[in-house]
Amino acid sequence: MTYTCPVCGKTFCSKHFETWWNPKTFNYESGSWSLATYCSDHFDKWWDPNKFSWRKASWRLAHCCPDYFDIWWDENKYDWEEGSDDLAKYCSDHFDKWWDKSKFNWEEGSRELAQYCSKYFDKWWNQLSFNWYDASWALAQYCYMHFDKWWNVDSFNWDQSSSLAQYCSQYFDIWWNPKRYDWLFSSAALAKYCSQYFDIWWDENKFDWDASWALAKYCSKQFLKWWNPDKYNAKYI
Ligand SMILES: [Zn+2]
Repeated sequence: MTYTCPVCGKTFCSKHFETWWNPKTFNYESGSWSLATYCSDHFDKWWDPNKFSWRKASWRLAHCCPDYFDIWWDENKYDWEEGSDDLAKYCSDHFDKWWDKSKFNWEEGSRELAQYCSKYFDKWWNQLSFNWYDASWALAQYCYMHFDKWWNVDSFNWDQSSSLAQYCSQYFDIWWNPKRYDWLFSSAALAKYCSQYFDIWWDENKFDWDASWALAKYCSKQFLKWWNPDKYNAKYI
């Protein structure tokens, strides 16, 4: 069944919602997703927790109807598997009402927790549950102010090394690890964001000389320390 607006012909038209909406015949099984997505302005008129398809559209409530959170929230009906990341992203203002560390999908939602719920860090942080593999960079970028609490040299995904150089340079002394650092993809970030620690990290055998341009641009003061005509690569300058 489609729900076409008799005025303008759009389906699930929010502007002329009253003209096509009929709660008696509406098929919530197939239409919940679209209601939440396109008709959030009329939430009060269509909301029915017993008919709404929580399985198909929970995450659209979090995404499109965060203003009505207090009305629709039900921790037992919400689909945590699909919608944990949307809760963290769109309903962070209601964090205290929905947070449940055993229900939250850490695999899918760790990045969003770090990105959108950093001010509740002390409430959600759990180093055993956090998805370090995917979201280490988000800790570095959005939760640098809590660095002391989350930093773990063995758990951090060093493939995301450049995020440390870029966002946690003030903690350089703590995280710097020349054996773990991803020189291949993150040499430029060292030169760009950690030039003040040049003497500590510089290693001409480890540095990726494809990032020579970054040395030239950001470490010109240390020119005499790194200049090596045999290694210098002018290709990206
Ligand atoms: Zn219309």
